[in-house]
Amino acid sequence: MELIQKTAAQLHRLLRDREITAAEITDAVFAQIAACEPQVQSYLALTEESARKTAALVDKKLAAGEELPPLAGIPIAIKDNLCTEGVTTTCASKMLYNFVPPYSATVVKKVEENLLPITGKVNLDEFAMGSSCENSHFQKTHNPHDLSRVPGGSSGGSAASVAAGEAVLALGSDTGGSIRQPASFCGIVGLKPTYGAVSRYGLVAFASSLDQVGPMARSCEDTAMLFSAISGADEMDATSCDRGHRADYRDYLARDVKGMTIGIPKEYFGEGIDEEVSAAVMQAAEVFRSLGAQVKEVSLPSSPHALSAYYIISSAEASSNLARFDGVKYGYRSEHYQNLQEMYVNTRTEGFGAEVKRRIMLGTYVLSSGYFDAYYKKGKAFQSALCAEFDACFADCDFLLTPTVPQTAFKLGENVDDPVKMYKSDICTVPVNIAGLPALAMPCGRDSQGLPIGMQLIGPHFGEDVLLSAGHRYEQATGHQFTVPAIASK
Ligand code: GLN
Repeated sequence: MELIQKTAAQLHRLLRDREITAAEITDAVFAQIAACEPQVQSYLALTEESARKTAALVDKKLAAGEELPPLAGIPIAIKDNLCTEGVTTTCASKMLYNFVPPYSATVVKKVEENLLPITGKVNLDEFAMGSSCENSHFQKTHNPHDLSRVPGGSSGGSAASVAAGEAVLALGSDTGGSIRQPASFCGIVGLKPTYGAVSRYGLVAFASSLDQVGPMARSCEDTAMLFSAISGADEMDATSCDRGHRADYRDYLARDVKGMTIGIPKEYFGEGIDEEVSAAVMQAAEVFRSLGAQVKEVSLPSSPHALSAYYIISSAEASSNLARFDGVKYGYRSEHYQNLQEMYVNTRTEGFGAEVKRRIMLGTYVLSSGYFDAYYKKGKAFQSALCAEFDACFADCDFLLTPTVPQTAFKLGENVDDPVKMYKSDICTVPVNIAGLPALAMPCGRDSQGLPIGMQLIGPHFGEDVLLSAGHRYEQATGHQFTVPAIASK
C-alpha cells in the first residue's frame, strides 16, 4: 500500500521502527497534492516549507533517539477558519482575503507542539456556513470519490484532503454538522467533541454556543490520537474544561461493546432519510448486536423541530459575531464610499457572500425587539427540552446510533438555489450541537452508486472514549476502514 493511503497509526509505527522517515511521508503527501489539487481543490494555501522543516526536525529527533509524541511527523491540514500566525486565514471569504493573524489558535499550537507538519489551509463554506463547500468565495472543492459531487461542508476541504491522500489528518469545526457531514460524504471518520472539550481560542466564531473544533481522520484510532493531542482546558477559552479528559484515548479503544446498550432513536429513520442509508445504519446495529451489545428503540420526540431551532440560534449568534467585520481594522474594505456609513455598508455588501448575508439578516430579525420572544426565546426553550430528552435516553443507553446525513453526496450545483433543501442535510447532526453532546461520524457502507454512507454515534457529555472504542470495535469487526478513492490509488 502507498504511503498516502495509510492511517496515522500505521505511519507512526513505521516511523518508530525506522522503516520510513518523516521527510518521506511529507514528500509523498506533497506529491499527491501536486497530482490531485487541479481536480479536488481542497487547499486555499500551502505551507510546504514549514511542513518540510517540521518533518526534518522529527527525523533529527528520531535519529537522536528522542521519545516523540505519537503524531510527530504525520501531515495535517487545517481548516481555514482556524487562526495561523503568519499564514492567511480567510474563512473562505472575500472579507478576510488578506487577513494574516498575529497569533495561532490553541489547537494549532497544540498541533505544532506535537510536531505534526502542517500542509496548509483548507477550503470551507464562507465563515463555515453551508453544507457543500460551494459557498467558498475562492473555489469549489470536489468529492474525491466522485468529482462531480460535493465533498460536504462546511469542512469540505478538510474531508476531501484526507480522503484524497493530500493530508493524513485534518482539523475541522462543527457548529451544526460541519465535521460529520463532510466526513460522511467523503468516507472518513470525524468527531464533533463535547462542547468545551476542545479550546475554541483562535477559531473564527460562527455561533459561539455551538462551535467546536474536532479531528478528521481515516480511522477511529487516528481520531483518538488527534483528539488526545488537541483536547483539554485552555485558559484562553473560559468555556473549555478538563472534565472527562483522557491523556491518551487509545488506552480505551480495546474496551468491549459487550454489555453496552445502544439506543436507536426512531425519529432518525423516518421520512426524508434515504432507504439505502437507513438500511446501512440498521446493518451496523446488527454488527453491534453480534458483538454482544443490546440494541433498543428510543425516542427523541422534539427532534423534528431541531433544524428550525438551530437556524434561529446559530443565525442569531452569527449576526452578532460577524458585526466585527466592518472594514476598519483588518480585512476587505470597499473602495467606493464618501463617508463612514457608506464605507461600512459597501464593505459588508461587497465582502460577504449571499449565504452569509442571509444568516445575518435572519439573525438580526430573530433578535429584534418584537420578534425576540417569538423566535429566539422559543429556540432556547426548545434547547432545554431537547437536552432533557437526550438525558432520558442516556439514563439507560451507552450511546445512540443514527445516520449522519439523510443521503449520500449530492451533485455540485444540485442544491445551490434551494437553501432550505441544503439546510435539510443537517437534520441528523444539529440536535447534537444544540445539546452540546459528542458525536462520531464514520463510514458504514456504500450506496448502489458506490458512494460512502456514514453513521453517527452520539454519546453523553464527555463520552468520547465510549464512542471511539465502539467505533474502533466496529472497524475491527467489519474491516470497514477508510476506502481509498480511485484518485488516491493510482
Ligand atoms: N451546515 C450547517 C450550517 O450551514 C452547519 C455548519 C457548521 O457546522 N459549521 O449552518
